[in-house]
Amino acid sequence: MIDELRAALDSDRVMESKLELHLYGRDAGVYRGNPSVVAIPETTEEVVEIVKIAGRHEAPVVARGAGTGLAAGAVPTEGGVVLVTTRMNQIHEIDPVKRTAWVGPGVINLDLSHAAAPYGLYFAPDPSSQAACTVGGNIANNSGGPHCLAEGSTVNHVLALEVVLPDGTLEVIGSEAPDPIGLDLRGVMVGSEGTLGIVTRALVKLTPIAPDIRTLLCSFSSISDAAETVSGVIARGVVPAALEMMDQRIVEAVENWLHAGLPTHAAAILLAEVVGETAAVEAEADLIAEVARANKALEISVAAGEDERALLWKCRKSAFGAVAQAAPNYYLHDTVVPRTRLVETMNKVYEIGRRHDLLMMNVFHAGDGNLHPLMMFDASEPGMIEKVQAAADELVEVCVKAGGALSGEHGIGREKRDLMPLMFNTADLDAQARIKETFDPFGRFNPGKILPAGSRCFDQSGALPPGAWV
Ligand SMILES: Cc1cc2nc3c(=O)[nH]c(=O)nc-3n(C[C@H](O)[C@H](O)[C@H](O)COP(=O)(O)OP(=O)(O)OC[C@H]3O[C@@H](n4cnc5c(N)ncnc54)[C@H](O)[C@@H]3O)c2cc1C
Repeated sequence: MIDELRAALDSDRVMESKLELHLYGRDAGVYRGNPSVVAIPETTEEVVEIVKIAGRHEAPVVARGAGTGLAAGAVPTEGGVVLVTTRMNQIHEIDPVKRTAWVGPGVINLDLSHAAAPYGLYFAPDPSSQAACTVGGNIANNSGGPHCLAEGSTVNHVLALEVVLPDGTLEVIGSEAPDPIGLDLRGVMVGSEGTLGIVTRALVKLTPIAPDIRTLLCSFSSISDAAETVSGVIARGVVPAALEMMDQRIVEAVENWLHAGLPTHAAAILLAEVVGETAAVEAEADLIAEVARANKALEISVAAGEDERALLWKCRKSAFGAVAQAAPNYYLHDTVVPRTRLVETMNKVYEIGRRHDLLMMNVFHAGDGNLHPLMMFDASEPGMIEKVQAAADELVEVCVKAGGALSGEHGIGREKRDLMPLMFNTADLDAQARIKETFDPFGRFNPGKILPAGSRCFDQSGALPPGAWV
């Protein structure tokens, strides 16, 4: 297989040294896998060729963008070919009139917004990893970001996809039409984590840059006051562009690193942003400040200009990097709960941390109830990974019981695969497994991800079990 891959690509784009295989055996999370070979295509035709070669050798194919995923989606847990899209990074076309762009899957998220900026446009999904992650990875994980509260996650910004299917066929699904006829296969493909097809080009929507913007920083003496402010703002009918919360420990870590003047004495801070016409922005900023004051805010400030705003967002978006001061490893969790259950869930999260003797930090998209507890640890300590995993499983259970979901935005991958039965019964899992089977009857694309073993087992002769989500 490796000889055939070398014949199909330049040989420097087929990698098999021990070090290279080690590096491409993991993403930004804690799981590891062992690829047989790494292939780096530059064109759609090369992706088709790689898929056909792997198919002839019955080898799995695991698509990979920048490897910033946190759920082990791009980790080749069952070996095979890791197909890296980073050289498919061309922005093929920006159409400022239609407000769309055709892009390669390896385009870095922020590069697309930079390229669209001269037309007064940007790509709205903005994961905190946006300076590194790829649009292909965003699509595969249906990624969110601080500004997805108002704009919606990636699925709302994808019109059409060119995909290579597991048998090597090339298809375009979706279209420029706002409501294409037929089943919404584009919606099925977005969020499918490389298990159904490999995206080789995407037609994405671009969003106009708002004429005015206000960014507020509010600090509180308790997490619950901050969380009440989140619910209060939305209850008053304002959906800010972003509404992010950071707890004291994470604020301290960021401040130690960036010296931005963050209020380290506060138990929690909220970063709220409103965008639009000046009059609306001023009214909404005033309303947020009013709700924060009603919830005993310690300080409320508004970023004085673009530099100050950029610094605040740098603090938020580099929080995961800043925590490296606290411990050599972290396990970042991603779950979501109804906004009204934020306070009690946060209390349980800290309690789980205390019980497992793990330092717990929190930075998250509070507006949509998307929690990101970070457990800090040293992986070289014996038994530590098991302890962290046990705490992580408890966290997920607490969130699901609170009416939440397994993942807010990072996907299921290998990390949460075996927790799927917490949310889906046998009929639900079977239905999803049938979709997988339709696209990929031999289970070649990203095997071992999303669906737990035995998902395809529901007896169709029986009635649907109570509570089935299908
Ligand atoms: C510091 C940090 C901050 C983060 N912040 C956020 C955040 O705010 N919001 C958020 O949602 N996520 C966040 N993430 C997670 C991650 O960055 C996103 O999931 C991102 O979209 C992954 O993109 P990637 O290019 O790195 O994909 P990878 O990690 O390489 O792959 C992710 C998944 O996509 C599949 N895939 C990749 N390319 C393709 C393709 N062309 N076709 C089909 N499948 C493909 C892979 O098989 C895998 O299942 C963060 C991660 C880090 C490390």
